[in-house]
Amino acid sequence: MAKISGDTIEAVTNATDIVSVVEQYTRLERRGSTWWGCCPFHHEKTPSFQVNPEKKLFYCFGCHKGGNLLQFVMEMEGLSFSQAIIELAKRSGISVRYENGGYEQSETEKRRDEIILLYEKVTRAFHHILLHTKEGNVALQYLKNRQVSDEMIETFQLGLAPKNRKWLHRFLTKKGYSPQFLQQSGLFSKKYPDIAFFSNRIMFPIADRHGRVIAYGGRDLSNDPKSPKYLNSSDMVQYQKKYNLFALHLALTEMRKTKAVIFCEGYMDVLAFHQAGITNAVAPLGTALTEEQLQLVRPLVDTVFFCFDSDEAGLNATFRAIEMASRQNFEIRIIQITGAKDSSELLEKYGAEGLKNSCKNAIIESDFFVQKAMTKFDVLTAEGKAKACAFLFPYLQTIQSQVKRESLVDKFASKLNVSPQAVYADFLKTAGTRNQTVKKEFDESIQPKEAPFRKNAETRAMVAVFAKPELFKIMRSSLTSDDFQDETAKKLFILMEECYRDEVQNETEIMNRLTDEKLKNSIAASIVQGEFAAQPNLIVKDSIKHIKLKKLKTVRKMQVDKLHIASVQQNETEANDIINDIADLDRQIAELERQ
Ligand code: ZN
Repeated sequence: MAKISGDTIEAVTNATDIVSVVEQYTRLERRGSTWWGCCPFHHEKTPSFQVNPEKKLFYCFGCHKGGNLLQFVMEMEGLSFSQAIIELAKRSGISVRYENGGYEQSETEKRRDEIILLYEKVTRAFHHILLHTKEGNVALQYLKNRQVSDEMIETFQLGLAPKNRKWLHRFLTKKGYSPQFLQQSGLFSKKYPDIAFFSNRIMFPIADRHGRVIAYGGRDLSNDPKSPKYLNSSDMVQYQKKYNLFALHLALTEMRKTKAVIFCEGYMDVLAFHQAGITNAVAPLGTALTEEQLQLVRPLVDTVFFCFDSDEAGLNATFRAIEMASRQNFEIRIIQITGAKDSSELLEKYGAEGLKNSCKNAIIESDFFVQKAMTKFDVLTAEGKAKACAFLFPYLQTIQSQVKRESLVDKFASKLNVSPQAVYADFLKTAGTRNQTVKKEFDESIQPKEAPFRKNAETRAMVAVFAKPELFKIMRSSLTSDDFQDETAKKLFILMEECYRDEVQNETEIMNRLTDEKLKNSIAASIVQGEFAAQPNLIVKDSIKHIKLKKLKTVRKMQVDKLHIASVQQNETEANDIINDIADLDRQIAELERQ
């Protein structure tokens, strides 16, 4: 298998700023020479994730994940080593060279890349049909009636999938795509391979966080009650609904700036918000919001706004979303649309100001629950009061702060005109097991996954040469792998020796060769914490001395044992030899200790 050349790896690493890469996933703040933020790998509220831009390393003090730039990208995006390099190379416009020409991707990687390229073509074709054909005119008129601006049509690359269900297949086979490949592209009917999955629909391209189209949502234009209003791509190799969000790539900048995100119901709502200049709006993909989607935005924002429909289904979606977000410790706000059925209608009726005002008037989740409970049940009757309380309990259970929970109970009790003690007593009765699971999940999420390695002279020496590879030359001139008693240190020495022989001197490349996850994390931790920043040469020198001494002393002890045996056996010649050896060892030890 052809390998990406070392030059490319080095060029890509040098050209990429680790801070700006990490900032795509979490907010970082500068403190001295390092940057800190909340860890994108585990859930936390106070930053314990550190990035060292000079060394291009990261480390989390909470979950102990650590490594270099490439390892961060691999981990975060679920990419292989070569994919990560290709990804970073694309970002900095570096062309990827291979050691002997070719490059072998896995079948899955290959398919994923091919499908993304195909979708790019299809997106452009649909967009063209919408804007520049007679058939597109009707669809364009529909969008104009819904007051979607030209700018939004451009930004979101909206398109039209034509009525003729055989058009797409013809178009793509003419471009040279094989029917076999097309059959697996997610764009055609499973039963009839040349029939397009989307037809006579306005197409909303769904992109990943880098803006590459990976799926579609399509809105029906036929007004045929038998055909679903919205149709969405199924999960595939390049796309999983629950890990993606509509418009995430367009919302990232504003999300980072405002530390907030707006979740709305559908594609048209997202368009409305963006058109009104509120560009941190996203939407789940044709299903209810998932835990994973919340985790996706967790590192970037503190506050989530929910703006779901106000019908029964929309309300239930809001309740569930609040419970999930509360468990993940978000600040929660509910945007209520009044005077229109949804945000896109609100924009049509009242313009950008209307939508901005609804955002301004967003309420906190506890007020929302109380408000809904009061209207949902007849709270003038005892039974209604009990039901209203019970309605609130699932949400109460998600609140981790006792103070917050109690003040909410107080507020609610006074509205219902009952005592807070009574509400609380009922709550505790229902709380039971679920509360414990929530607590357990929470505790587990903050538990460190693994502890760093045991520190001793040997591991310290090896980490020091990891931080400064040029020092290994000194080390190998006085030590061999057999001199190490600590297994971890020995492993690292062997790795460094291999790198030395392969003339790999670059820290990043050495780190890349380290496949042991635990070890990699621990080393990154030590380097990021700057343990070896001060005087690595001294540490290496001291360690060499220490390791040598230890070795000499071990050998000496063995010789003394042998001497005992020789004297018992009255073997004088051997005893004399051993005495000479011991004297020699003592000289070496004394000399070393003087250094
Ligand atoms: Zn972490």
